[in-house]
This record gives sequence, C-alpha cells and structure tokens, in this order.
Amino acid sequence: MDGHNHVPERLIVVSNRLPVTVKRAGGGFEYTPSVGGLATTLNALREDMEMIWIGTPGINVGSADEFQRIETDLRERFDSVPLQLSAEQFDKYYLGFSNGCIWPLFHYFPQFAHYDHEEWEAYRDVNARFCEKVLEHAGPNDTIWVHDYHLMLLPAMIREALPDAIIGYFLHIPFPSYEIFRTLPWREEILRGLIGSDLVGFHSYGYARHFLSSLLRILGLDQDFGRVNLGDRTIRVDTFPLGVDVERFAGARELPEVQDELENLREQVAGKKVILSVDRLDFTKGILERMEAFERFLATRPEWLGKVSLITLLVPSRTQVPEYQQLKKQVDETIGRINGEFGLPGWTPITYLYRFLPFEKLAPLYLLADVGLVTPLRDGMNLVAKEYIATRTDDTGVLILSETAGAAAEMGEAIIVNPHDEEMIVEALEQALNLSLEDQVERNRVMRARLKRYDTNRWAADFITQMEALRDIRRSNLPRRLRDDLRQSLLNAYREADRRLLLLDYDGTLVKFAPTPEGARPDAELIKILSELEQPENNQVVVISGRDAETLEGWLGQAGIDLVAEHGARFRKDGGGGWKEAEEITVGNWKEELRPVFDVFVDRTPGALLEEKGHALVWHYRRAEPGLGLQRAAELTETLEGYVANTSLHILQGHKVVEVKPSMVSKGRAAQPWLHEKPEYDFILAIGDDVTDEALFEALPEDGWSVKVGIPERSKARFFVSDSAEVRRLLKDLQDTD
Ligand code: UDP
Repeated sequence: MDGHNHVPERLIVVSNRLPVTVKRAGGGFEYTPSVGGLATTLNALREDMEMIWIGTPGINVGSADEFQRIETDLRERFDSVPLQLSAEQFDKYYLGFSNGCIWPLFHYFPQFAHYDHEEWEAYRDVNARFCEKVLEHAGPNDTIWVHDYHLMLLPAMIREALPDAIIGYFLHIPFPSYEIFRTLPWREEILRGLIGSDLVGFHSYGYARHFLSSLLRILGLDQDFGRVNLGDRTIRVDTFPLGVDVERFAGARELPEVQDELENLREQVAGKKVILSVDRLDFTKGILERMEAFERFLATRPEWLGKVSLITLLVPSRTQVPEYQQLKKQVDETIGRINGEFGLPGWTPITYLYRFLPFEKLAPLYLLADVGLVTPLRDGMNLVAKEYIATRTDDTGVLILSETAGAAAEMGEAIIVNPHDEEMIVEALEQALNLSLEDQVERNRVMRARLKRYDTNRWAADFITQMEALRDIRRSNLPRRLRDDLRQSLLNAYREADRRLLLLDYDGTLVKFAPTPEGARPDAELIKILSELEQPENNQVVVISGRDAETLEGWLGQAGIDLVAEHGARFRKDGGGGWKEAEEITVGNWKEELRPVFDVFVDRTPGALLEEKGHALVWHYRRAEPGLGLQRAAELTETLEGYVANTSLHILQGHKVVEVKPSMVSKGRAAQPWLHEKPEYDFILAIGDDVTDEALFEALPEDGWSVKVGIPERSKARFFVSDSAEVRRLLKDLQDTD
C-alpha cells in the first residue's frame, strides 16, 4: 500500500461462477447479468482496465456446438470465458468438496464436514481445468485475481506455469483457527495452493492471523508483519473488509417502487415494532438459535406480546443437500410452534418469507425494520448488517450483530452479541426496542460514515492497488550483491580516484549489534582501519550515526575522522575541533501532502485515528485490534518512509502511535557539506544498514557506491553485503589498495 493508484493493463478474474446466468430460451440462450454484489463491483473495474472473467456458466449443455455458441456470446457480450464441466465432476467439486467439506469446516462445523477422497480429487482436477483455461488467456505478466474457497489450489497451479504473473487471491469466507484447519486431510496441499499467490486477502484480521498461524505450524513458514518469505519470493497477507454499494442502498428511499412497498408494509404491521432478519437458509446463520431466543424473549417479556413482530426472510439455498432439507424442516417446525404458542388474534409473532427478494423488495424491509437482528454463528463478513445501516440514511434503527460475523470488526457501535447466548440476545432485543432515537442516531452515524468510506469500489481498488504495488516492488531495481567482480571494480575505482569520500554508518555497519548500547564499543582494529583510511591526504572518512556526540567523540575521536551525530543534528568536521549544530530547515506544506496517506490507514484500521498537532501528524492505534494495529503501524511507517526520504521530516514509532514531524535531521542532509565540497570527490562510498541510511544512499551522485548491509527487501542502495564482517573486509581491502 503506497497511497498511489495503480491499475493493471489487464485483469483476469477467476471465480467459480461467471457473473452472468445462462438459460435456455426458445431455440437459443438467454443471458442475464448478475446485479449487485461481487459481480457489479468487479464489472465496474472494466471502465479503467481491460478485464476478462473466467468461471462456470451455471448451465449444462450436452453438445459441443451449443457450448461453442455460449462461449462466443459470453466472450463477445460480457468479456467472459465459460468453463464447461460435466455434471458429475461439477457436483463432486462444488456440492461435494467445496460445500460439503470446506464450507462447514471453515465455518466451524467440523461435524458436518465430510472428507471424501474422490471429491477431493474432483476438486483438484477442476482447479487444474480452471488453470488450463486461465493459461489459454493469460500472458506472462498479467494480473490474475482468484476468488474464494472453490479455487484454493489454483494460485500455485498458475504460478508454476507463469512465474512472473501477479496473482491475488481473496477468500470470501472465514479462515478457521489452526485447531480446526489441521483436521483437514489435505491441509498441506491447500496451503501450498494458496501461497502460489503474491497477495492473499481476507475480510478480517482474525482470519489472516489464523492463516498465518497455519502456515507456521503446518509448513513452518514464518511471517513478518504479514509478509511471508518463501525464499525466492515474498507473499503478502492482508485484510480487505468487503463493503456494500452504499450509494445504491442509500438511494433506495427515493425510488417510487420502494416507497410504495414501504407504505404497503407499514399498513400491514399497523404500528407494531418490527425486527428483521435476512439470511440464506444455511446452518451457519444461527437461524434456529435466533428463533429460540425470540421465543424466550416473548416468554420472559410478556409486555411485548402483540406489540412486536419478527419478520424473517430466508433465501432457499443448496436445496438438494440433505442437511439443508433437514434444517428447513426444523425451521418450519420451530416457527409453527412459536406462532402457535404465542400468536393472538390479529398478531403473528413470526412472519416467515421463504424466497429471494430483489433489491426493490428488500430495501423496503430494511427501511421498515426498527431492529436488524443479524446473529450468524459464523459468517465471513455478512453484508445484510451493512446494508441495513447503509439503507437507513436518517440513522435510525438498531443493529444487533453477532460477534462471530466478520462485519463485527468494523461495526463496533452495534449491539454485539454472542449468537450462542440466548439470554444475551434476549437482553439485546429489549435494549434495542427501548433505545432512544438519539442513541440510535449516534451509533449509526459513525457506522454509516465508515461504510461510506470503505465501500465495494474502495475494496476492489484497494486489493488491485496492492497487487500492482507488489509488481512495482518486483520491478524496482533491488540492490545487487557485491560479488567479487563488482568488488574488484569498486577497488579499482578507489585506486584511480583523486579524492575519496567514505560515508559510514556505525551500528550494524562498522560493528555488530550488541545487546546493550554500550556493548557496541569499537575494537582496536576498527579504530586502526578508520584512522589509516583517513591518513592519505586525498581521503576523507565520515562516520554518520544516530548516536549522540559524546559517545562518538569518546569512541572515535582519536581516529581523526569527521563525525556526524544524532542522524545529522550535530557534526564535527576537519578531523577535530568543536561540534556544530545543524540548521533547521522547513519543508513546505507537508501536512497537506501526508494527510491523505494517514487517512488511508485510518480507514483501513478500525479503531485507529489521526491527531493533528501544531507541528506533527500523529496516527493512534491504541483502540485497534492489537495485532492489526502493529501490522498497519509497520506498513504506515514503510509507506511514510518513501514520502519523507530526503526531507527534514522524521517518523517516530511511539507507544501505539506513529508520528511525523519536521526535524533538522536526515543523514542525506547531513552528508551535504561533504558531498558539495570543492574540489569534488570523485570516489564516494556510503555504507549503512537501516532505514535512516536510505536518505544517505539517495543523496549520493549516480556513480556513487552505495552499499546496504543485510539482505534487502527494499533499498535505494546499488549493492548489498551480508553483514558487518563483510564491511570490515571491504574496508581492509581499501586500506591495502594504496
Ligand atoms: N439478498 C437479496 N435478496 C434476498 C436476501 C438477500 O438480494 O431476498 C442479498 C443481500 O442483499 C446480501 C446478500 O444477499 O447482499 C447476502 O449476503 P451475506 O453476506 O449477508 O450472506 P451470504 O449469503 O453471502 O452468506
């Protein structure tokens, strides 16, 4: 994430289903593009980039001729590429492995997960078929975005064929904790499949953490702030909470058909309070538990009898699967029982709709409901919760939300409940029905503002920006190892030069890091090397360090070299004499420039906030989820480094804060007096190991020799060496060159 917007030239999206439904009609086929959701979000990207979508068309045609017709139509009219699978293969891969094994397991229902070897094989084969299709269309440098749990093996399969492609993967369901995931017989294969990606995205930080912990325990792969090192490449793991199309839902209130339907509904409920729940009929949604909590509410809060109704909209789902049929039966029975037990003439406690409603019919329900009751046992995100808030532009209404829905990470102002805790739901209902209008508005305003900022478009743009940023990192010229031949050229250049300047960092460069600051005292050999390098008339050695002047003076004063302390705040020139203070320089309107960078990190880190001080911008993450806060702090710092290199701005990582403020110091600036000395130096070598040295590397002229110590992931240096021992050998060789 670097705050710039990158767009790939061409994006290949791969998901189980295409965003178009194909049906037989008359003698031919009819095509209906999907509306809303992922389809709309990703199709909107077509305005900015060429995009093709690969997936199954949702129809089975026997003849090759017919399939070819569908293929041509989809290609020409929707830039989509269908993949034809046999009904049997599709069932084993989709109903079998994807929905019969991964879906229940990843939603913490291991008792429903069946481990069937044949289904696993079908899953693998279908992933391979997807790979073939991708390879028919993808070029070596394309950007490929793979979606969801049906295609977890695909990233590695593509990687093998296209090592230079940028591959992103997003999981739309939870990633379970290691203890659950480890029960999967194919856990290793699944992880190896996923790490074929460059970027692996999840809805919430919790899922990312679970994935990283499985990588560590199962594959032994360690991570560093969401980066996993695979040896020859690095992958990035991050969170991208899917949002909703806020504009569309906020606009619902203005549509005449929505207004009509709302009026209709209002007449029907005749002044009673309405609680609404909307789910696919799935065992993960906590439907029975919710009904039972409502039953208990009616039993223990009789004052509400006849005054409140629960409208429950259940969308038919996976209706051929026995577990789902069983659930449907139980739901029917439970609702019948509750309505029988508590119903009064003219009042039914639970109104039950079993169908899919289009937007124009769903939005009025969101507008009608006083309470949105969203209590899945597990849910990757749960968009219904977000849509309920987004639709209610007057900020009235109360959302009760399960803590085990991904959405809970961003909707802390809702009444958060444990969906297994019946009493807690009962109390939440009572609180919700009695909540003052003022309190409702206060809670919802905050949530709605957050939803507006991080909507679906932002989600997609964010993911793509990160993928492209990874491409940039790959392309950027990373430093080269200072191999023997390069080292020889360096020594030759040194020998032939008339005036030589050596700019050397101290800790980690001239000496190894020590456990205590005092422990890094220079040894006699180092003092000798430095003073001998300083000896020739045409040589100048400068040690530029973050340490204070007194320490440097005490340790290195006798070597007769120049010293710069505190990253440039104070310096001692001409081999001795007194210390001088660097002058402060001001930088233009830096706050205006950096504020948008900070804003991105506020939006992407629930709980974080930006504070503006007179001379500083401060990003606080005390209230963010601890691990996420740390990861984002590291990312923010890294991003800011790019902006502040070679300015007099300074980044401080404090306790739960990242702060930027101007200071007089920068190693790049500190080196200026020597770099501009007349006559000029014609051999300049700078060696350093940490981020403060980057400014120094950048300040060097193009033919300067900049050397980073340590294996670089990102550095402006031209070369790198492994450690301070290698630096020592290099300095000795310079000494021997004359
Ligand atoms: N939905 C709809 N009509 C209905 C019920 C639901 O259009 O009758 C939509 C709803 O607007 C939401 C989606 O279906 O966008 C459900 O998404 P969610 O993340 O809540 O659950 P999922 O079904 O993906 O598990």
